[in-house]
Amino acid sequence: MQRTLLSRLRTPLAIGVVGITLAACSTSPLGRSQLAFYPDDQLEQMGKQSFAQYQQKLPEIGGATYEYVQCVAHAITDEVPADAGIANWEVKVFKDDTANAFALPGGYIGVNSGLLDVTQNQDQLAAVIGHEVGHVLAHHANERVSTQAATQTGLSILQAAAGLDGAAGEQLMGLLGAGAQYGVILPFSRKQESEADKIGLDLMAQAGFNPRASIELWQNMAAQSQGAPPEWLSTHPSDQSRIQGLQARMDQAVPLYQQAQANGERPQCQR
Ligand SMILES: [Zn+2]
Repeated sequence: MQRTLLSRLRTPLAIGVVGITLAACSTSPLGRSQLAFYPDDQLEQMGKQSFAQYQQKLPEIGGATYEYVQCVAHAITDEVPADAGIANWEVKVFKDDTANAFALPGGYIGVNSGLLDVTQNQDQLAAVIGHEVGHVLAHHANERVSTQAATQTGLSILQAAAGLDGAAGEQLMGLLGAGAQYGVILPFSRKQESEADKIGLDLMAQAGFNPRASIELWQNMAAQSQGAPPEWLSTHPSDQSRIQGLQARMDQAVPLYQQAQANGERPQCQR
């Protein structure tokens, strides 16, 4: 038992140590330097694994609902630069009343059916998906896992990376951004949130979705949170400074949107 655990740990531990010496720091798309111990392919593996766990736990929805979410998600991911290195984005809709969505390293997007009750139209849904894809493009999962590994022993993360289920696996999902479902609520940092907002806003505008819907979305989320807050809000806290940040970038995003529309990028995703 002990031996099995160690042998399972050895590979990710070795990769982790190499990562510490070679890639302890990287730079986000917006120029912020960040901690990144792990190579991209290891994060992609973690993302794939977490997505598989999510799929095991929740039933999927197909049909028109799936077509709608897929239409919005792919319009967004079509705008992701090729150098992000993600060839295919897999999209799933899960049957669950909690308003949650996530995107994982490697190109995995999950949307809970409950989110479709909170987002009022395709543009608001695009704002959520754009934001989540923004977290992936800015390598926020790597930063969170690396910070965790630097501040604790990192053992539980490495166990999770080695394929162990249970609490370690759920903690990993939480770090990657998919954990609200299982009670592992780990809010992204304010810097990460602000970066994901900016990247998401640009992506949605370039895809031809109205970027002003991002502000409606947050106001909408805040209004919903008077009663029981949507799950997504617990990991992506809403505040006035976020809306101000989006406002401040709107002068830049609206022309991107107008340009996309002029180029015929006018998504019409039907619910
Ligand atoms: Zn976020």
